[in-house]
Amino acid sequence: MKKVLKKLPALILALAALLSVCATALADDMVGPGPVLPLPTVKKTAVAVTQVEAARESAGSIRVTWTAAPEAAGYIVLRKAPGDKGWRCLGLVNAGGETTFLDTLDSTAPQQYLYRVDVLPADRDRYVGGEGAVAAAANLLVCVDPGHYLGSSGACTDDGKTYRECEFVLDVGLRLRDILENRYGIQVRMTRENEKIELFGLVNGQSEVEDRGLFSQGCDLFISLHTNAKANPVQGYAAWYQPLYINKPTVILNTMACSDPLVVDIANRAGLNLAAANYRLGIENQPNFGPATAGAIPHMGDKPKPGAAPVLVCWRKGNRGDYYGVLRGSNAVGVPGMIIEHAYHTVLAMRKLANDGVLAPLYADIDARAVADAYGFVDLSAYT
Ligand SMILES: [Zn+2]
Repeated sequence: MKKVLKKLPALILALAALLSVCATALADDMVGPGPVLPLPTVKKTAVAVTQVEAARESAGSIRVTWTAAPEAAGYIVLRKAPGDKGWRCLGLVNAGGETTFLDTLDSTAPQQYLYRVDVLPADRDRYVGGEGAVAAAANLLVCVDPGHYLGSSGACTDDGKTYRECEFVLDVGLRLRDILENRYGIQVRMTRENEKIELFGLVNGQSEVEDRGLFSQGCDLFISLHTNAKANPVQGYAAWYQPLYINKPTVILNTMACSDPLVVDIANRAGLNLAAANYRLGIENQPNFGPATAGAIPHMGDKPKPGAAPVLVCWRKGNRGDYYGVLRGSNAVGVPGMIIEHAYHTVLAMRKLANDGVLAPLYADIDARAVADAYGFVDLSAYT
């Protein structure tokens, strides 16, 4: 206790310094009447942080890093939520050390944040601290799994263009990652970012499909991206030339996701918006689907109740829990997960639009919006 008392004056001084710095930083943003001051004889040079990054370190913390600015004595780290008017001062970091700050959040509830780092100039007579660059971040981590790998899914060539599910969903996945990160500040972990997959030191066929789901450990959500194929082709049609009427999206949930209203909301948004987009593009002819309800997710293949609109969200039980390995894996590590089958690639009209580059950006946008809208997140790209 005595030790604390001894240190008390120093602590008070440090606190007062920080509060004064924060007050100055906030006052810079304010405009109001004041005394008329003589013009300065020396024009001050503005110094500012030009690059700042923010990334989720855990559900309860976000790490802010920036590039050092010349002539800085210190940095003021500021934060605000997208709807907030003013910036909140988080702390002061002395120059000369590491240019990083760990923001410990008040809550682990998913939330978007904006971060700014301003400069405190060493020589205040010659330099003035300008507003720093802004970075967006959220305490949300999504694992994106572009299904398969090169050679593990079939291919079909039409008009000289080859459709491979593994290539198409990689294109969707990389776009989805970029949209989630750049537009919404959501952090993404990818199971693969090129034609092969390497998880836990195992490459391609060495690993089990379940490993993709296990890789999502610690994430808030797992999304596996696919396009569908009919296991038993409709009679009279060749395997790769199925009739248009079979085409629709399907979202398959893992067991724990079935009772999670927020994840079911994401699945509904993805499924319904994909169906509407496919219908609008003329590659699907059945638009009348309804939303699924958490706690009452139908098993794959269940017929809808009489009079009820069919739903696009389902789950499938296997001998060892979830039927699909990726969903079994994510469920085993406590991460709610889903497979999104965007459309049937065994329908020629779908493949043609995919090969023309129409579908990957559209599907990535729909998937990203499904996640962001369910969490109530907004587009932050205008701020950064
Ligand atoms: Zn697939």
